[in-house]
Amino acid sequence: MARKAVRVPSCDDCFFRRNLLCALPEPAPCATFRPYHPDGLRPPQQLRFVFRADRRTRAAWAFPTAQEQAALHA
Ligand code: SF4
Repeated sequence: MARKAVRVPSCDDCFFRRNLLCALPEPAPCATFRPYHPDGLRPPQQLRFVFRADRRTRAAWAFPTAQEQAALHA
């Protein structure tokens, strides 16, 4: 399977720089980088909801039983 080439983000491709909305002095990509698109800002793609194939039959955690509590504090 061929891997997609990962593009390195640059401020020239950033929505904020293209629309003169960037106030940062350094021309290095920052954490608020959003790709420029002629339609404007686009919300990030929603994560897919994946159902588990196997059902959990036991809870990951449960309150201790009364007997376990009594033994713990005896
Ligand atoms: S917001 Fe960040 S990534 Fe976008 S142009 Fe400004 S510094 Fe670069």
